[in-house]
Amino acid sequence: MIITIDGPAGSGKSTIAKMIAKELGFTYIDTGAMYRAVALKIKRKGIDPDDIRSVLKTLKETDIDLRPSENGVRVLLDGEDVSDLIRTEEIGKIASKIARYPEVRKILVQMQRSLGEKAKNAVLEGRDTGTVIFPDAEIKFFFTASPEVRAERRYKELKEKGINVSYVDILKEIKERDFLDETRKDSPLKPADDAIVIDTTGKSLSQVFQEVLQIIKE
Ligand code: C5P
Repeated sequence: MIITIDGPAGSGKSTIAKMIAKELGFTYIDTGAMYRAVALKIKRKGIDPDDIRSVLKTLKETDIDLRPSENGVRVLLDGEDVSDLIRTEEIGKIASKIARYPEVRKILVQMQRSLGEKAKNAVLEGRDTGTVIFPDAEIKFFFTASPEVRAERRYKELKEKGINVSYVDILKEIKERDFLDETRKDSPLKPADDAIVIDTTGKSLSQVFQEVLQIIKE
């Protein structure tokens, strides 16, 4: 059984996807982490995200793996655990830039689909998991929330991890990332026709979790 949760940055999809996967004993697949891992490698190599040829060459030489862990998933980039290093807004923005290339998406979508097929029972989370990766998924969700609420959540999350950032900068980055994700020619961010849309603004995590779980159990 495949469950997909899509939505913009900070809509709560990662946290809920992890909780649902844990509750049901499913594999959690964080598709955004894979774009972020490629973004980190590009940054380290000093490659311009607009230089598609170099981005593609790097991607083809890159090994990305997701391993289940206590906190959800560990992200391995060429064997190195980069789980925390990829969580900055800077890496998120580079990820959004390279995610605009259809050639990049094609390679990552294939990897993500095969991870889901291998797992059999999986919760996938990202931007196109219900529209492109698994258009036939049994249950699809699409989370939304206002940019301000999403920025607030991201701010708290990063602060808890000891990463120092300003709320204003995060809000700006989130809006920029929304723009990049929504205006992409190839699979822009939008709900699948058969997705259940959940607005998480003003709802607690446990409220959203219960709502989602209830729908799955029905
Ligand atoms: O979800 P997360 O913020 O980690 O994703 C980082 C970026 O990767 C997103 O802003 C988006 O541009 C891209 N992404 C994507 N398709 C996915 C997951 C993420 O284009 N399925």
